[in-house]
Amino acid sequence: MHLETLAVHAAQRPDPATGAIAPPISLSTTFERDPSGAYSRGFEYGRDANPNRAALEEAMALLEGGEVAAAFSSGMAAANAVFQALAPGDRVVAPNDAYMGVGKLLREVFRPWGLEVVFVDMDDLAQVRAALSTPTRLVWLETPSNPLLKVTDIAAVAALAKARGAAVACDNTWCTPVFQRPLDLGVDLVVHATTKYLGGHHDVLGGMVVAKAATPLFKRIRELQIQAGAVPSPFEAWLTLRGIRTLPVRMRAHADHAMAVAHFLDAHPAVEIVHYPGLSTHPGHEVAARQMRAFGGMLSFQVKGDRAEAMAVAARVQLFTRATSLGGVESLIEHRASVEGPTTKTPENLLRVSVGLEHADDLCADLDQALRGSFARIGP
Ligand code: PLP
Repeated sequence: MHLETLAVHAAQRPDPATGAIAPPISLSTTFERDPSGAYSRGFEYGRDANPNRAALEEAMALLEGGEVAAAFSSGMAAANAVFQALAPGDRVVAPNDAYMGVGKLLREVFRPWGLEVVFVDMDDLAQVRAALSTPTRLVWLETPSNPLLKVTDIAAVAALAKARGAAVACDNTWCTPVFQRPLDLGVDLVVHATTKYLGGHHDVLGGMVVAKAATPLFKRIRELQIQAGAVPSPFEAWLTLRGIRTLPVRMRAHADHAMAVAHFLDAHPAVEIVHYPGLSTHPGHEVAARQMRAFGGMLSFQVKGDRAEAMAVAARVQLFTRATSLGGVESLIEHRASVEGPTTKTPENLLRVSVGLEHADDLCADLDQALRGSFARIGP
């Protein structure tokens, strides 16, 4: 079945009690037990399972081509469960440009907890191979990366990891299964901040782990989901599944608009460089074209000038909103280095853009007027 059809129909059944097409939100935290003592309807207590969460997990497993999925209260809660499912002493190889929160979690929580964590440049296979020469439990991927849109060859890294007996997890937040299906490329676990494109409207936090198979590693993640209890509420699960119904059409529009904005910025005299894997000049373009169905809705660009110039451009936008996060219908722009703080390696003249669903011409016009201010000052 095509993804567009799956997105609409996955875990979609009229409510047996009323025939309602839109699923009811099951707020009950506890469920009736049979006279026999069994729970024949499948639900016992809201932290263990809930009908809205179960439907969301079923849909996500189908969309990613996995067997099982576990929903969490945020993307970070999902990542946390993956690392906590390992044992102190285990070794993790992660990208040196993983999402800032994941890098911090590994450095500040899981290193003290006992994981050995090695950061590498994931698009340099020689570095990955060298890191894997020491026994490793898990390789963590995120591609394209944030905020420089570097592209990791998922199949190549997964093959190296498999040869060394390491499991592989891939953060697929930026692509969603519409553009990239890591489980088909040899990955064991896909992780999402469903907060972003899956929810799609900047109004719900959530996370997800989807597994190719119900391995002992996934079973441990499920235990952590239930026992530690970082689960989404029924309404959050409902909102996220509602977002999924329109995901393929939204993603196509995000990617089309991002491509138009990337080409526009690439030709702009006030822009130094554009980072978007859809541009043929991007160093990861070929790998991206092989493993992604389209190039996504995220891009970043460096203005000619310094931090002040980048901040000035961000201050002049009218249609874009200056805000962090991504994946909603509204376009956002962000000076990433100031969000990441003093230890950041992100260039100070870089602005990250989440391209929304507004018309691409309007977005380009807004960026043009914002950039023209700096062009007038510093020239070509
Ligand atoms: N992974 C990626 C790629 C992200 O961009 C983010 C958030 O920006 C996260 C994980 C964390 O998600 P959350 O904010 O839902 O915890």
